[in-house]
Amino acid sequence: FIGKPSLNYISDEIKSILVEDIKSIPVILEESTSIYDAIVFMFLEDVGSIYITNNGILSGVISRKDIIRTVMGGTDLYKVPIGVIMTRMPNIIYVKPKDSVLTAAMKLIEHEIDSLPVVEGIDNSNKDYRVVGRITKTNITRIFVELGNNI
Ligand code: ADP
Repeated sequence: FIGKPSLNYISDEIKSILVEDIKSIPVILEESTSIYDAIVFMFLEDVGSIYITNNGILSGVISRKDIIRTVMGGTDLYKVPIGVIMTRMPNIIYVKPKDSVLTAAMKLIEHEIDSLPVVEGIDNSNKDYRVVGRITKTNITRIFVELGNNI
């Protein structure tokens, strides 16, 4: 039986962990990359999604499903750039380094996605972001395991 005090403890513990404490290195490509090269890169990097930038500024995300959909549609993979098929800003869901991992986990669940880019604004416009990391379901599962094993 888990009493209320220990549930509060778990909750406080989770909220105290920040995105910057657990983020992974982001996997990034420029928008002009061909879909073919993006697929090769996805296999080489062993990731399910890639963040896309335009001159270093976050402009989109491309995932396995986007690629499968495109391949089934018969698009020319060598000619068409990933910028054409990616999910685009302002529809990208992201987190900031100082957000809690609970916020990140809630966004993953709410939007039914596998990963979130961790971003930092390049100025105060709240419009243009540089990608400084990524949070995936694996990062969150690792915390669950560490809490469970009391590490
Ligand atoms: P998969 O395609 O491997 O199932 P996801 O579930 O993460 O991967 O992606 C599903 C859809 O959501 C795709 O169209 C993808 O472009 C989009 N997507 C993925 N991550 C994000 C994000 N952080 N913000 C907005 N859209 C995203």
